Amino acid sequence: MADKILVTRSSMPDIEEYMDEIRSLWDTRWLTNMGPKHARLQAELRRYMGVENVELLTNGHMSLELTLQAMNLQGEVITTPFTFASTTHAIVRNRLEPVFCDINPVTFTIDTRQLESLITDRTCAILPVHVYGNVCDIEEIERIAHKYELKVIYDAAHTFGETYKGKGLGTFGDASCFSFHATKVFNTIEGGAVTYSDKRLGEKLYELKNFGIHGPEEVDAVGANAKMNEYCAAMGLCNLKHIDEEIIKRGRIAERYRTGLSGVDGIQLNAIQADVKCNYAYFPVVFEEKIFGASRAEVCDALAEQGIGARKYFYPLTNTFTAFHGKYDASQTPVALHVSKRVLTLPLYADLAIKEVDRICEIILNCRKG
Ligand SMILES: *Cc1c(COP(=O)(O)O)cnc(C)c1O
Repeated sequence: MADKILVTRSSMPDIEEYMDEIRSLWDTRWLTNMGPKHARLQAELRRYMGVENVELLTNGHMSLELTLQAMNLQGEVITTPFTFASTTHAIVRNRLEPVFCDINPVTFTIDTRQLESLITDRTCAILPVHVYGNVCDIEEIERIAHKYELKVIYDAAHTFGETYKGKGLGTFGDASCFSFHATKVFNTIEGGAVTYSDKRLGEKLYELKNFGIHGPEEVDAVGANAKMNEYCAAMGLCNLKHIDEEIIKRGRIAERYRTGLSGVDGIQLNAIQADVKCNYAYFPVVFEEKIFGASRAEVCDALAEQGIGARKYFYPLTNTFTAFHGKYDASQTPVALHVSKRVLTLPLYADLAIKEVDRICEIILNCRKG
C-alpha cells in the first residue's frame, strides 16, 4: 500500500540550514522576548509582504484576539461563519458579539450585498476572512466601513504571499491578521503576524503581547503572553528563503487538479480571481450530489480508503458550534450552510507528486454512479 497522503505537509528547510540559523542561540542565550531573529524576521516580512508595519506574534489566533483588544472595541462585529474556530472565538473572547453575514457562493468570502443590512448602531467592526486565500471584495468593504465609520480587521490567515492589484494584502483595512502555523503556506512552526496602518495600534499590540508591560515599572493594560520566540523566528527566516519556489510548486499542483476536475458536472472549483497573485493555499471542491452522482461523504470515504486525507474544511460552521449553545442560527447564513455541507479540501503541498494528484482526481471521478 502506498504511503498515506495527508491534506497538508509542513514546509521545512534542510536541517543544516536550520541548524546554522539557530547555532548562535547557544552563544547569546537570547531565546525569546524580541531577540535579534525576531527583529530580522520582522524586517524581512515587511519587505516581502510589502507593508509598512508588521508585528510578530505567537500564533494567528492571538493576532486576531489582541488586535481586537488593542482597538478597544465594544458591541457587534460582523463576520462570517465559514471559517476556522479562531475567527469567531477571537470575537467572543473579547466579549464582543459576532453577527454572522452569509458568504458569496463563488468566492466563499463575506457577501457584501448582505453586509450593509446587518449594520446596527452597535456595530463597531467588520472581520471578513480571505478564506482559502480568496480575496474579499475589498473595495466594497472599505466603502461600507468608511460610510459607517467601522474598523476593518481582515482574517488573512490563508493569504501569505498574496497581492491584490499589485499591493500586499496586508496593506488593506485597519489591520490584517496572518497565521504562520505549521499547516499554512508559510510557517514559523507556530506563529502569526498583524499588519496595520496606524502606528499607535502597533505600539498597543507590542504591549499586549508582552503582558501589557509599558515600561520597567509600568503595566498599563491587561495583556497576554503572545511573543514569537527565537526558534520560531529562525524557522521563519529559513522558510522565507524558499517561499517563492514553494508557491510556484503549489501552483503547479493546483493547476493539475484543475485540469483533472474542471468541466465535470456537479463539481464546483475555487474561483480564479482577477487582480490577485494567488498563493494556492487550498484546493476546495464543492460536490453537488444530485448532479455529480456522489456525495461529499462518499468521495471523502473513497479517498480515505486509499490512504488519502481530504478535509471537510470548513465544516461545521462556527455559528453551529456546541460551544455557543444554540445562540446563533445557521439558517440565517444559508449559502455558508450549503457549502459547508458539500465542500472538501484536497491534499495540497509543495512536494505532492503530480502522479498522486492524477490518482486523487481519478478516485474522485470514479465515485460517480451510473
Ligand atoms: C489557521 C487559522 C487561524 C488561526 O491561526 P493559528 O496560527 O493556528 O492560531 C485563524 N483563522 C483562520 C481562517 C485560520 O485558518
